[in-house]
Parts: sequence; C-alpha cells; structure tokens
Amino acid sequence: MTVTIATLGFPRIGPRRELKFALERFWSGKSSEAELLDSAAGLRTAAWARQRSLGTDWLPSNDFSLYDHVLDTSVMLGAIPERYAAAEGTADLATYFAMARGSTGDDAGCSHAHGAGETAQEMTKWFDTNYHYMVPELVAGQRLSLTTAKAVDDYREARAQGFETRPVLLGPVTWLSLAKTRDVDAFDFLDQVVGLYSAVLSQLAAAGAEWVQIDEPCLVLDLSDRQRDALTRAYDRLSRCGVKLMLTTYFGGLEDNLSFATSLPVAGLHVDLVRAPEQLGAVLAAAPESLLLSLGVIDGRNIWRADLTALLDRLEPIAATRDLILAPSCSLLHTPIDLALETGIDAEIAQWLAFAVQKIEELSVLKGALNQGRDSVAAPLAASAQAAANRRTSPRIHDAAVAARIAAVTPDMQQRRSGHAIRQAEQQAALGLPLFPTTTIGSFPQTPEVRQARSQHGKGLIDDAAYEGFLREETERAIRWQEEVGLDMLVHGEFERNDMVQYFGEQLAGFVFTRQGWVQSYGSRCVRPPILFGDVSRPKAMTVEWWRYAQDLTVRPMKGMLTGPVTILNWSFVRDDQPRSASCRQIALAIRDEVTDLEAAGAKAIQIDEAALREGLPLRRKDWQAYLDWAVECFRLSAAGVADATQIHTHMCYSEFNDILPSIGAMDTDVISIETARSQMELLAGFASYRYPSGIGPGVYDIHAPRVPGVVEMVDLMKLARTHLDASQLWVNPDCGLKTRKWAEVRPAIEAMVAAARELRAAA
Ligand code: GLN
Ligand code: ZN
Repeated sequence: MTVTIATLGFPRIGPRRELKFALERFWSGKSSEAELLDSAAGLRTAAWARQRSLGTDWLPSNDFSLYDHVLDTSVMLGAIPERYAAAEGTADLATYFAMARGSTGDDAGCSHAHGAGETAQEMTKWFDTNYHYMVPELVAGQRLSLTTAKAVDDYREARAQGFETRPVLLGPVTWLSLAKTRDVDAFDFLDQVVGLYSAVLSQLAAAGAEWVQIDEPCLVLDLSDRQRDALTRAYDRLSRCGVKLMLTTYFGGLEDNLSFATSLPVAGLHVDLVRAPEQLGAVLAAAPESLLLSLGVIDGRNIWRADLTALLDRLEPIAATRDLILAPSCSLLHTPIDLALETGIDAEIAQWLAFAVQKIEELSVLKGALNQGRDSVAAPLAASAQAAANRRTSPRIHDAAVAARIAAVTPDMQQRRSGHAIRQAEQQAALGLPLFPTTTIGSFPQTPEVRQARSQHGKGLIDDAAYEGFLREETERAIRWQEEVGLDMLVHGEFERNDMVQYFGEQLAGFVFTRQGWVQSYGSRCVRPPILFGDVSRPKAMTVEWWRYAQDLTVRPMKGMLTGPVTILNWSFVRDDQPRSASCRQIALAIRDEVTDLEAAGAKAIQIDEAALREGLPLRRKDWQAYLDWAVECFRLSAAGVADATQIHTHMCYSEFNDILPSIGAMDTDVISIETARSQMELLAGFASYRYPSGIGPGVYDIHAPRVPGVVEMVDLMKLARTHLDASQLWVNPDCGLKTRKWAEVRPAIEAMVAAARELRAAA
C-alpha cells in the first residue's frame, strides 16, 4: 500500500508578505493591474515549486487568492450585489476590490479586523480561526452565472509550468451556509449553484484535472436537515462531472455526520485528526475500501512540531491495509510560512516549532517511514523525538511556582467580596460620577508620529529616554484634552502599546514572538500572533507606571487598562500540551496580579478587555457551555481580587450577546461597554430581559468609519437605550478604541458625545 502527501492550501501572502505590498502598491495607484497580477503569479509559482521540492505529491491550485477565497467563490458564481454595478456576467478587478474594501477603500478598523469601508461586503471570522472572509450575499430573485474561470485558469497556469495540481474549491453547501440572505433562503439557490459548480468541474476535467479538492468544513458543524439534504443533492450531481472529488473537512470531527459523510458518492474524504484525533477509529470503520482517505495528521492551525514517532505508531497499522494520503489538518493558510526566517527565537524554543514549510517536511518524513521503513528516515525521526522529549521536560516550559499557584486557586478567589448593590454604592461614593458618565474604550489615535517613534525606537534610532519622553508628552496631551472636553472617566491613551495582546505577551514569561511569523487576517492584513509556549507568570508589574504617570496628571479618575486572559489566549498560538483552559488560568493569575497592583497604586476603576471572548466559542453548540464556564471563571479570577469600591469594567467589541448573556452576567463586572452603534440598541433588549444589573455603555459612536456622529443622533440612540435599561445603569462611550481613527475625527465626535450626555442629564 502506498502513502502520498498533500497540502490543502499554502499561505498566500508570501514569505515576506510580498502580496500585501503588491496589493498596497496597486491600491495606492503606484502600480498597474498587470504588475499586481504578475506579482501574484510569481507567488503562485514559488509556492508550487516550494511545495514540490519539499516532496508534496498533491499540490493545490486555486488556493491562492488576491484577497479572500470566499470572495473568489462568490465572484465565480456571479453573486455580486447590485450596488457594485458590475455588468451582468462580468467581474473585473475593480469590482472585486470594491466588494472587498468598499469603493472608498477605507479599511481602518480594529487591528483585529472589524469592518472594511462602508460599502464593502461584510466580513466575519472563518469558522473558529482568526482569518476573516467576505460574507456572500444573496437576495430573492438574484440570477447567478459563472463570471470567472479562476479555478480553471489557475489549474492551467500550474500545468503549463509543469505542476500537476489538485484544484481547490470551496464547496457549494458551505458557501451557501455562509451566505447572508434577504427575503430568501440560501438553499433556494442550491440547484443554480450546483449547476454552476458542475460546469466548473466539467471544465476542470476537460483541462486535465483528475481530482478536485472540494472543501466542506460545514460537515464538522451541527447540520440542519436542509444542509444534509443539500449535501446529498449536490454530491449526487457533482460526482458525475468527470473528476474525482476529495471531500475535505477540517476544524473538527465529523461526529454525528460521519456516516452521512462517508455515504456521499465521492472518491475521497479528508478528515482532521488534529482537532479530532479520536475520530480515527470510527472513520476507518465507516470508510469503504474504495474511499481514498486523506488523514490530516499535522496541525495546520498551530506552530508546534509534531512527535513523528508517536504518529507513526498510529499510522503504520493503517498504512499496511490501505492507500493513504497524509496532509496537514487544514490549509496551511493559518500558519506562518517558514521557521528558517526566524533568527531571534532561541534554539531551544525554535526546535519545538514547525511553520508551513517545516510541516510539509514532517509529512515527507512520515511518508518515507511508511513507504520505506523507519530506518530510511532515521535521522529526522530521531530529531523529532528528541525535540518532543525536550519539550515535555524543559524548565523553560514547566515552572513549578506556577503549578503551585494554580493548585492553590480556591473558588473564593473568583468571587467579589460583596454583591452588586453594595459595590455600586461604594463605587459611587468613591468616584462621584454624574448620571450618564462619559468615557472612552482606551486607545487614542495611533498617529503616524506615534508609529514612527515606536518603529525608530525598535530600530535603536532613538533611545529609551527619548521614546519615553515622547510617549509622556502624547499621554499628557491626551489627558489635557480629555479634561477640556469634559469626559468623566479618563484613559491614558495606550500610546505605548503596539497591540493589545502583544504588549502584555512581551512582558509575561511564557511567550515568545516572531519577526516574520505573519499570518493573514484578512486581505492584505497580517498579524503575528504571540506564541504561548510555557507556563505564564508576570515578572513585574506591566502597566502600573504608565497608569500612575497618567493619574498624577489629573484629579479625574483614570481607568487602568488591561487585556483579559481569554482574549490574550484567543489571539495567540497556544500550547497543545495542556488544555486551553489551563493556559488561560495561568494568564488569569498574571492579570489578577496586575489588577491588584493597579488597585494598590490607587486605581479606582480598571478595565479588563475581553474583545475575543465570544470568538473562542467552539463550533458545536454542545461544547459552548464548557468553554464559557472556564472562560468566565478565568475572567473572574483575573478581576475578583479587588475591594468593593474598585470598579471593574470590561469591553467587548461585538454585538451578538443574546445567546451568551448568562455568561456575560456571570462575569460579574461593574461596567461593560459593547458595540451597538450600528444596531440601534436592539441587543439591549436581551440585557433587559435578563435583568442585567450592572453598568452598560452601549457604544454610541461607530469608530469603524471615519464619519463623525452628531449630538442628536447620539442622544436618540441613548434614548433608545433608556427604553430598555434604567438611566442609572447607562454609560456613554464609543463602541471601541479610537486607535485607528484620526484626531480630526475623534475630537469633534467625542465633543458631541459629551454634549449628548449633558443633554441627557438635563432631561433626566
Ligand atoms: N482598550 C482597547 C482599545 O481601546 C480595546 C480594543 C479592542 O477591544 N479591540 O484599543
Ligand atoms: Zn473593541
């Protein structure tokens, strides 16, 4: 029996973010469309050559995208909303980028990807990854038709260069499941869509493709009857187009969809054995011999090197009985490209890591061992085993003091001393805030000057003292302005922070950072997630000095500003040698120390941001509560060490709360600020029916667009809020931090916001 290896998709951005820079040159008019397309073609060729030289037998094509593969699929199917005014049946690059970025091309927003320009398509997270895709839109009566032949073109392009590939398509049922619809059910489009897919598959077959990888990650979700029925109908038809289909699932186990998936008339099935290793036995039992299995054994979502010997122990008996494809669990899109580009990570830690290139090397070693015996790859197997052994025991990872502290955590540490009413009275006595108190979420504009100073400091062009002096001036200016404009609770502005997670990660033990470890977040935007490799502790206070400097400048209350444990966890590459909850608890203890240090320094209000708490929700409903339980427990552990008079705030930048409200309540904060500016305060109804007892700041200023809101509009929004909640509960604030905005926008917007609060007070 033979083993071959596949990749399901390779990072598009390029080893040095070449795609990002090519896109930005094009968008700013500094290069032509031909130059952009040329750079893109160069990246594709390089990716194919690289993967082949690493031993990949099944090369993907059409995994590349200029912006997003879901957008590519929508454009392919002609699902182009009218507002982009494309002539029927065509989609030029201008239309494509208008859908991606809006016609203004303003994609300022939270660094962690909120919204693109006003008229761009909506963007949201791709399953439980930190990649964001453009949400397909369907309206009643819309006619779909094939507008691009990208899949076929890419296949031909590879073939012309001597690369035989397995084209990748996002499956029709997953695409329909992701679509946002108006006056219509997405699955009403099933027959049209499947017709178009079958045309594409036939074209691929005619061009010479033998196999096509068709991604249906919806198969790891809870499926509705409509989805099951759609899958049955779709694959009945698509299996008759002259190509063999590798039905590809990832991000979880098939679970109750397993027998359904193996009954679909496809030639191959890919399963994720990293997220769901326990499904292997059931998959083997359910998969008929004629079904070619592709086993996702190397983690496509994380950066850890695999323990190849342990994998071989599992794979050898299977490879003895059937042909197998080995692959990463999912597309390598979610990992950085090449560990060899990292020069700053010390050797002990580096040996535990594998980026996309190293993951393909690992697959190649597994293939060698399975086809020719372990002896044929003795050296790399020994190196893998040694790295795994080192990681299990390294004192860099395992800190006895952290373990002892975790063991000593008691339930009362998650419990504020008194209930809500008592705390509220004490806090009011300490803070003396007016009705409808005004505040902001934390950051002020990260101006070109701020970025430049940071970058110069990073390069050693300005020394610590000069940089600190600059930051102090910025901070003082921001504080003076806040006083002048009349905000009630101030912030220091976060000028010293590069990123709300990285800033803390860099000061905590247990994290390491890459220089080139970029991962696509959306379009041209990339992030370098921190790598959480070891037990977390806090060598010293992280924010107290800046807080104290800021508070000393004013008599108004200055909020302490922290990122919460769940958000730090969810925006990092995390350990796979212990449960996420265990890593989170360690971070929580470190944040707890920071909270109590801020309190000891005199902070009367401390905000612990949990922007990413909701993002961490598991894909299957049945797993939600377990996650929410430990997430809330960790938040409480970080927050509950303070006195009743200390006001704990949190901030969450999203608007879907209804399904997790009890957990939001269980966080037991004193004030929560949320995103509502774009949803007419509707979600407050949920808080009201849940009798949410604490303070709420429903954002009245949508910071995701350059637009400056007026006083009347904000007063009206707050009046709507009043219909749901008691006036004494309400705070007035923007819906997120202001770091991506310009001062010229922020000044008038906040002035108007303060004026709105005054008007509300006068009318109360
Ligand atoms: N305090 C952070 C800021 O204002 C919060 C950002 C966020 O939640 N995304 O920038
Ligand atoms: Zn936010």
